[in-house]
Amino acid sequence: MSITPKEQPMTEISERPEQYDVVVAGAGPAGMMTGLCLALQGVAVAVLETAPSAARTFRGESISPDSVTALRRLGVLDQLPADRTMPVSGIRIVDAGQEVLTVRFSELADAEESPLEIPQDSLLDAIDAAAARFPSFRLIRGASVQELIRRGPRIVGVRYRIGEDENTITARVVVAADGRYGKLGAAAGLVSRKQPMRRDFLWFKVDPPAGWDLTRYQVHLADDAHVMCIPTVPGILRLGVNIPPGGLSRIRKAGLPSLYSSVARIVPDLGEATEHSVRTWRDTSMLEIFSSRCPRWSIPGLVLVGDAAHTLTPVLAQGVNHAILDAVVLGDQLGPALRAEESDIFVDERCRIFQELREPHVDQARALQFRQESAFAQSGALPTLARRSLYRTIDRLPVTKNAIWGRLYYSLAGGRNPAAEALDRLVARIPQTV
Ligand SMILES: Cc1cc2nc3c(=O)[nH]c(=O)nc-3n(C[C@H](O)[C@H](O)[C@H](O)COP(=O)(O)OP(=O)(O)OC[C@H]3O[C@@H](n4cnc5c(N)ncnc54)[C@H](O)[C@@H]3O)c2cc1C
Repeated sequence: MSITPKEQPMTEISERPEQYDVVVAGAGPAGMMTGLCLALQGVAVAVLETAPSAARTFRGESISPDSVTALRRLGVLDQLPADRTMPVSGIRIVDAGQEVLTVRFSELADAEESPLEIPQDSLLDAIDAAAARFPSFRLIRGASVQELIRRGPRIVGVRYRIGEDENTITARVVVAADGRYGKLGAAAGLVSRKQPMRRDFLWFKVDPPAGWDLTRYQVHLADDAHVMCIPTVPGILRLGVNIPPGGLSRIRKAGLPSLYSSVARIVPDLGEATEHSVRTWRDTSMLEIFSSRCPRWSIPGLVLVGDAAHTLTPVLAQGVNHAILDAVVLGDQLGPALRAEESDIFVDERCRIFQELREPHVDQARALQFRQESAFAQSGALPTLARRSLYRTIDRLPVTKNAIWGRLYYSLAGGRNPAAEALDRLVARIPQTV
């Protein structure tokens, strides 16, 4: 894909471009929710997506309680068949075969919703169905944004390719929701700093053995190796096994039996299940684990959301959550400004405020993830003994559990997160006729 770099001359606008208030590049959770949050306010929004359908290989399916609240209140959950969601009631951490920590979400202060497992294609289709109730929403699949269009210092639209055709959309705001490897931000000079972690991840799905508890997330640790076990629709398990950064070719060379025995060493109950379900490497999916931080999320006419602005690690499944909360806050900021046809300066200021409101909460989640990443990476007798003691201590302290999981999962309660007020305002703006 060729994205016009900053230095290149301005792309001319074709004679009759399509016009919207907002054009969104990328129809992942961030882009689709941005489309919904704007369309429900009557803002004309087009969402462009390279992929021809919502089907995805392996993506975030764990939806944090704050996002469940947002999806419920914005009418998305109503669009989901009941058999496409699975509630999760708690977490269990097992270290060296011993249970060291459990959390029951219903016991946390402010707990209302449980986390939900929702396959990402089902979630995206449900957001599409919720957004399609508003006539100003348009989703164009198979449309790949090729370049940003500038007028002076301002981004004023995008050029995109669909099949053999090239088209242009002009808009007052371009939203780059193009994900962790997105190129639009960098093309506009918004460059992220990437922080690699001490592990990558191999994901795959397995049929759970009889008696496996499918109501809780489980993390099984053995020295510096771990397996994340995540209940997944339709009643199966998603496993994530850590591998050394860039170590995929070595793992593959060692062969599948070595993967089976690694899993069995950490979670004896799952060795056979892995052997049964993972028959070729095509049944697995590699996730490069890194965190990224973009110092500035917007320039005049362009704003980044979701992974494009801040990629998180998979710990505690916060990627989709922050993508959704970004959309809620950005939608709340931009909707009234665009409806009132405020000046560009005013609209750009809304984008800046969006970052100001969201960034502290993303940073908080990232800091918690770094602490967890560091605990998972401990190796050797003494460090892992210290880790087990720490988890056991936390297990005995409800206050600490609240400070960790309560703050992370239920931040919309108690006025701690500006996304709560943004959500209230958005819900109040949904037309009565819908
Ligand atoms: C294997 C894996 C497992 C994960 N597990 C979890 C989990 O359990 N829980 C969790 O919360 N998070 C998880 N994540 C992270 C989560 O999927 C992301 O944080 C989340 O999807 C971010 O949403 P987004 O909309 O910002 O980006 P994405 O979901 O990446 O969406 C970006 C979209 O933009 C499109 N696009 C890119 N460039 C263009 C272009 N030029 N023109 C048009 N379209 C474009 C892409 O095709 C894509 O559809 C996982 C990620 C992976 C890869």
